[in-house]
Amino acid sequence: MTWTRQLRYVFMASLLMVAYHYLSSYHASTGLHWNKISGKSPTSNSPLPSLQQCQSSDYSNTSYELANATFVMLIRNSDLDGTISSIRALEDRFNSKFGYPYVLLNNEPFTDEFKRRVSVMIRSEVQFGLIPKEHWSQPDWIDEENAAKARKQMVATNVKYGGSVSYRNMCRFNSGFFYRHELLQKYKWYWRVEPNVKFYCDINDDPFRYMEENHKVYGFTITVYEISATIRSLWSAVTDFVENHPEYIAADNAMGFISDNNGKTYNRCHFWSNFEIADMDFWRGEAYTAFFEYLDSKGGFYYERWGDAPVHSIAAALFLRRDQVHFFEEIGYQHDDWGHCPLPDDIWEKGKCSCSQKGSFGSDYDPSSCKPRWDKFMNSQ
Ligand code: GDP
Ligand code: MN
Repeated sequence: MTWTRQLRYVFMASLLMVAYHYLSSYHASTGLHWNKISGKSPTSNSPLPSLQQCQSSDYSNTSYELANATFVMLIRNSDLDGTISSIRALEDRFNSKFGYPYVLLNNEPFTDEFKRRVSVMIRSEVQFGLIPKEHWSQPDWIDEENAAKARKQMVATNVKYGGSVSYRNMCRFNSGFFYRHELLQKYKWYWRVEPNVKFYCDINDDPFRYMEENHKVYGFTITVYEISATIRSLWSAVTDFVENHPEYIAADNAMGFISDNNGKTYNRCHFWSNFEIADMDFWRGEAYTAFFEYLDSKGGFYYERWGDAPVHSIAAALFLRRDQVHFFEEIGYQHDDWGHCPLPDDIWEKGKCSCSQKGSFGSDYDPSSCKPRWDKFMNSQ
């Protein structure tokens, strides 16, 4: 080997060593591994200097106390692209500044590829959970013949998801089981996130801390009308329950929002539960537990197609004081065709929102929105 070739060899070898060292510390610091350890503080691993500099003060400031809260996503492996899209937006508009953890749940095991693709985007803790079979199946005591008849009838009348048993399992799970999942036991607050949703505005203030500090229990961004064909007997079940359990009805509740005749009939308004920021201890508490068990015993999740949105909303409207329910004006949000864009200019500007405040379909003042009713109700005595 000549002298110059020897020198070149030494140079290349050192270059490779530096590159290897750099790449391995990058892997360690950005948490590419999906089996992350719980409770790790966002700043305890040593991130790249450039990442550190980009962080806003909230996330890197160790004195900031996060609420006892997590994001919750219920998803299938086939929802990967939509999941990535929702998380990307949520991280960019909110969570990269705060570092709240995620719990992702599925009725089938998540694939390694799913975990890898999701984990690479998130610097806080991510956990992947499997839903126990008994939380995700039509109970044995449901008369399958009747349930099948109802499904057929709904398909014939074009009711959305009318023929789907898995959709019914999903609605029942979201109504009465998600907050019992072992991965959620340690948390009080959750923010429900679905695949393919949009977040239009910077969320500068911590919604969880807002809920906590202002004694809120249930938070929403959109309220719409439920499809009548899916809840034919829901209100009569609710009425029966309330007659048997008047002790659970809160003083100054929001019955006036969901009923126009003091409880005789349901006006079908509900908080759209694909977005929820709420206190799981409310669902875990005595009133809601009794309520869910009673509704479940009626079989309406399968004989009809009761959704978790009306079930949650009716409970929040009856068992909470109206001031415990909070409308998040500043969270610009879109799910399917309906969205919410902050209307007050100062909020829209502060959030650097990418949505139009005017006239888009499904805006707060679209006829299909219950928001005007909410405003009217909240402004009344
Ligand atoms: P929609 O919002 O009422 O139109 O219903 P979606 O199809 O969006 O379902 C609601 C939520 O449940 C979403 O987060 C879905 O990803 C999730 N979901 C629906 N069906 C299933 C299922 O069979 N398995 C799992 N793991 N998640 C589901
Ligand atoms: Mn959805």
